[in-house]
Amino acid sequence: MPNQPSKNSNLEINLSEKDDSKESFKVTLQKPSKIKSYMDSYVVGQENAKKSISVAVYNHYKRIINKSYLSDVELDKSNILLIGPTGTGKTLIAQTLARFLSVPFAIADATTFTEAGYVGEDVENILVRLLQVANYNIGAAERGIVYIDEIDKVGRKSASASITRDVSGEGVQQALLKILEGTISNVPPKGGRKHPEQSLVSIDTSNILFICGGSFSGLEDIISKRTNVGDLGFNSNSGNNSSGKFDNNHVFKNVVHEDLVEFGIIPELIGRLPVVSTMSSLSDSEMLKILTDPKNALLEQYKKLFQMENVILDFEQKALSRIVEIAQSRNSGARALRSVLENILMDLMYNVPDMDKPNKIMITEKFILGESKPLISVGSIKKKSA
Ligand code: ADP
Repeated sequence: MPNQPSKNSNLEINLSEKDDSKESFKVTLQKPSKIKSYMDSYVVGQENAKKSISVAVYNHYKRIINKSYLSDVELDKSNILLIGPTGTGKTLIAQTLARFLSVPFAIADATTFTEAGYVGEDVENILVRLLQVANYNIGAAERGIVYIDEIDKVGRKSASASITRDVSGEGVQQALLKILEGTISNVPPKGGRKHPEQSLVSIDTSNILFICGGSFSGLEDIISKRTNVGDLGFNSNSGNNSSGKFDNNHVFKNVVHEDLVEFGIIPELIGRLPVVSTMSSLSDSEMLKILTDPKNALLEQYKKLFQMENVILDFEQKALSRIVEIAQSRNSGARALRSVLENILMDLMYNVPDMDKPNKIMITEKFILGESKPLISVGSIKKKSA
């Protein structure tokens, strides 16, 4: 019998010890504030989402611990729905969580799912992926986190603004519903239908945390119609946004379950996603921070690539603002930052290895605008000490 829970939130519990058939797997319960502060070093902004997800994750693992004491009060599962524009950090949040908790993590794209029997992926394949990531440790897979992207696309015929229900989309939702609420799913460990000889593995999904994300384009109209707040949505988040596009942050915050039903998600599935969090589109200052601040920040990655050629890469502040401006105009959130940087630096990355001892390259605003070359200083290359 495991130790009784104490007031110490850093509780570690071996969740598989009652079941000899499964390898042991430990989960450490972490306080919401600790979870959030870890996410802060990777995810810029999105304060509300980070907070509510930290609480949801804390409660999720509390629920598992509670279950293992056979308590008479059963806690409901707190799967999470993340609503927000593309490239604002939905996948990143899920990924960061899994890394912090050291649990297996798998990502799936809901648009690839079909009902069993049709050409395409079975919903159960998510579990196969999780099992593979967990190195076939079933106990670990059963405590993992699954991120299902583009959940908004399974309720409708297409990505158009139409809110007509799609029958096959609904079949996929029904299949998702089963694994989200908790079921014993028998999956082929190698996945797919190509290996019919493999024996099936049973995975209990009742302790897997599901995070579903989507941009829900068109949902803002449904919410606005109900609340009449549509015209308050323009640029209402914390900072300005250089693309000057319509900003749905304010509208999305008012989302209720009925809006999601009208959007085309079946009520039962929404019922299994009790924690609804909205992600904001990123302001210019948040985009700037994403370039420089997080662990593994994009600029640091490019600086490292140049450093390996013994070149110091630097950027004028104004150049960074221009990069953000170009990225914002692409309407794909922070995702655009990498491709903008890649475009800007491509020629340099091609030429530098052949160049005559450059030791510093300064990316200027004029270079970004195509008005001049970058500032390149040439000197003797200092041999780095080993
Ligand atoms: P989506 O919301 O579409 O799931 P992602 O989480 O996949 O977006 O973000 C794409 C990339 O953009 C991430 O890998 C990360 O580099 C960057 N990014 C997006 N949002 C943020 C954020 N809030 N903080 C830091 N980086 C971010």
